[in-house]
Amino acid sequence: MAETETFAFQAEINQLLSLIINTFYSNKEIFLREIISNASDALDKIRFESLTDKSKLDGQPELFIHIIPDKANNTLTIVDSGIGMTKADLVNNLGTIARSGTKEFMEALVAGADVSMIGQFGVGFYSAYLVAEKVIVTTKHNDDEQYIWESQAGGSFTVTRDSGENLGRGTKITLLLKEDQLEYLEERRLKDLIKKHSEFISYPISLWTEKTTEKEISDDEDEEDKKDEEGKVEDVDEEKEKEEKKKKKIKEVSHEWSLVNKQKPIWMRKPEEITKEEYAAFYKSLTNDWEEHLAVKHFSVEGQLEFKAILYAPKRAPFDLFDTRKKPNNIKLYVRRVFIMDNCEELMPEYLGFVKGIVDSEDLPLNISRETLQQNKILKVIRKNLVKKCIELFFEIAENKEDYNKFYEAFSKNLKLGIHEDSQNKTKLAELLRYHSTKSGDEMTSLKDYVTRMKEGQSDIYYITGESKKAVENSPFLEKLKKKGYEVLYMVDAIDEYAVGQLKEYEGKKLVSATKEGLKLDESEDEKKKSEELKAKFEGLCKVIKDVLGDKVEKVMVSDRVVDSPCCLVTGEYGWTANMERIMKAQALRDNSMAGYMSSKKTMEINPENPIMDELRKRADADKNDKSVKDLVLLLFETALLTSGFSLDDPNTFGNRIHRMLKLGLSIDEDAGEADADMPPLEDAEVDAEGSKMEEVD
Ligand code: ADP
Ligand code: MG
Repeated sequence: MAETETFAFQAEINQLLSLIINTFYSNKEIFLREIISNASDALDKIRFESLTDKSKLDGQPELFIHIIPDKANNTLTIVDSGIGMTKADLVNNLGTIARSGTKEFMEALVAGADVSMIGQFGVGFYSAYLVAEKVIVTTKHNDDEQYIWESQAGGSFTVTRDSGENLGRGTKITLLLKEDQLEYLEERRLKDLIKKHSEFISYPISLWTEKTTEKEISDDEDEEDKKDEEGKVEDVDEEKEKEEKKKKKIKEVSHEWSLVNKQKPIWMRKPEEITKEEYAAFYKSLTNDWEEHLAVKHFSVEGQLEFKAILYAPKRAPFDLFDTRKKPNNIKLYVRRVFIMDNCEELMPEYLGFVKGIVDSEDLPLNISRETLQQNKILKVIRKNLVKKCIELFFEIAENKEDYNKFYEAFSKNLKLGIHEDSQNKTKLAELLRYHSTKSGDEMTSLKDYVTRMKEGQSDIYYITGESKKAVENSPFLEKLKKKGYEVLYMVDAIDEYAVGQLKEYEGKKLVSATKEGLKLDESEDEKKKSEELKAKFEGLCKVIKDVLGDKVEKVMVSDRVVDSPCCLVTGEYGWTANMERIMKAQALRDNSMAGYMSSKKTMEINPENPIMDELRKRADADKNDKSVKDLVLLLFETALLTSGFSLDDPNTFGNRIHRMLKLGLSIDEDAGEADADMPPLEDAEVDAEGSKMEEVD
């Protein structure tokens, strides 16, 4: 007797199983789709291996999926002649190693997601427990003996070496159905289910069907027939037999395989003959998505190179869109109708990783290996074409506003990544960008529309980056721009910083940051004259401020861009913005060497028309060493850090400064307060306690 080993399910898988078993889900039928999809994957794998080594098929030359309902035993069995599993595969893949999606799927379920989403999370196998109280997996891999995996959930499973009937190669999954799930033994139900969910599986799926025929025969014939068809005649008990003999009729029960799925691949058919439903069904079978696709592009390329392809844009981003641990599973590669591989990374750039579909090439060699793929010229040309078609597809989606909003919400990050990475297509991709702006209201605007709204004399496109729309829309940086009626785009996605850094211009118009140096607004002669005068008037104050702030700022100058606020902090044209600094600080694993020279060199710009600044100027002009000036400058600097989008290194000192101002406003004598002892000197030790008193301010 072979030894039986017992294994405990990994904790999360165990939780998932309890959830599947103990929660009521009406949509149980999807289990069959999942089991068939696994069978198809396993067949894909062995077919791929056999392309380079024919002998891999020796154990079982046919590639098939068989489905066998057994009403006598209440079991439904699904057999495939795929790659099979070794003992280690069984233990790892069916119970001891949790996929990253296990937890995510449970969270999604608890949050009300449909159980049919299970396939997308990479745990489809366990859906068998929606309908089965016990699952038995018999499997034979070329590299190992045949094993049986068995479990009724409940925390553990067993694995036993199988000395029973040899499968040759492949996997047999037997589901002992729960008493209330016997509908899955009905031929009609099974046929419909396979049609509905597994129509596009590219291996023949055959259902073991039962046929009862009535035949009229003479007594003599009957005897002969019975001999001829031994084994075919079943369950005809003697009573009935006698009765039937009298009538000379006999009920014959025979079994046969009935092919259930259509075989012609959808991409070989003419697009005009394919319905939207068929595209949707194919999309679902391809992706495990439970929703329809958003848009599809079915095309063929002919000429020097020939291939057919179907590309889909999904409705939403998968839960692990930017998870780099995940193997991409976007474009399936076929060569002359033969499946080659699932995740052909060479076919799509990373930023288009969300596009799903298939490519069927006429030119690639069948025995292509992953290693040779990388150098393959044909593949490079296919890739270029696919990228072009993807972008066309996005433009088609953009024709419908509602669809495009959905699409943009899900995949704008990908488009922006594309601008950053795909220099060849960045101009085209830029047309797909949409932003809120000072003038766009609730809608978002394209760069193209922005350009049509540009004011006379406006030569640049203005934008501001920041953490959120809320954080930027009242920024001091926008004051002058708004006053002049120039539209400013709100770029509030972290990736905008990278994208705009690559894009640099659109239709010959420079993209200019409202928060960086180098913002030049056109001015009339009068304005110019006035600003020259103000610059001269405030030169002294600028110097005083620079002295107080020291290395905290690169320089201090009179501003062109603030209208209301007293001052703001701008960054160098080629350095990081405040927003970028925030993003970089948030990246735990960043390379610190960049921070030194990229981190924001701040220039303080002061607003000469602001009364606070004017008062400061008067005091500074009167006495260069006025302590109150120093105090106020520090407070203004720290406030400007915040309003300009930076973070405070030392919020406590800032808080204390504000509290002191509050006391002043409330006429509380500072010496009387107990909290006084906690007050830090206003700026380091160089300021003596006397001089730092805020009373002197006013
Ligand atoms: P996924 O199909 O997304 O990988 P599943 O939970 O459906 O997740 O299946 C888990 C794993 O079990 C598969 O990745 C595969 O390794 C293995 N497996 C399941 N069914 C079969 C089968 N019929 N033949 C071979 N391996 C299988
Ligand atoms: Mg699966």
